[in-house]
Amino acid sequence: MNLFLAGLMGLIAAFPVNYLADVLPWKDGRLGKALCGRCGGALGWGEYLRWWKPCPHCGKVRWRHGIVLVSLTVLSALLWIYPGKWGFWAMWVLLVYAMLVAVIDAEHRLILHVVSATGALLLGGLGIWRHGLEATLLGGAAGASIMLLLFLLGNGYAYLKARRANQPPPTEPALGFGDVALSTDLGLLLGWPGILAGLTFAILVAGAFSLLFLLYALLRWHRLRTDAYIPYAPFLLLGALLAIYV
Ligand SMILES: [Zn+2]
Repeated sequence: MNLFLAGLMGLIAAFPVNYLADVLPWKDGRLGKALCGRCGGALGWGEYLRWWKPCPHCGKVRWRHGIVLVSLTVLSALLWIYPGKWGFWAMWVLLVYAMLVAVIDAEHRLILHVVSATGALLLGGLGIWRHGLEATLLGGAAGASIMLLLFLLGNGYAYLKARRANQPPPTEPALGFGDVALSTDLGLLLGWPGILAGLTFAILVAGAFSLLFLLYALLRWHRLRTDAYIPYAPFLLLGALLAIYV
């Protein structure tokens, strides 16, 4: 292995990440087909791979393919230079998994059961390797209960606010149940008490991002937008990766 091969591995891994996020193969009969991730229109394989050309159905360029290609290549190479305490391979598997979860959450506001169940096996395995069975299970339980509490508080608050304003309760929950599942997986990965560090980092990064977004909204639209949807999975994943490094 060398730096070039590490980068190449990132480049190659970008294909299944983009493909799974486009096709969502757990939806009936979509596995093995080439679809535009933006409109769902069927594409030939050659067309599918040329993401920089506008889609013949919706006319959009699928920029996310390029973003994932470049970022996985660069991050894999960086990981080779700075593998951290867990070593290159464990971190690389985590990186690819994190990219897939983050992309699907950002685009579809979803953390799918099949993805979080796979994550439980994968991240739980890594957790047991790093901290043993007991700390891993304890971390998973902590991750689940902390996020469940936030889920109940956040959605309870949104419900009460809507009721006081005589509006129907919000259909889109502030925190989804998928976030609870993901937090459980990350608890398995980080173990106890590592999950506390992971969630703290996630909240700090999400807070900093929200503040920047509010400032941006103020400059761009001259008003504060507190109703904008923020996908939390990328922050949870980033927090977990930071916790492993620090
Ligand atoms: Zn399209």
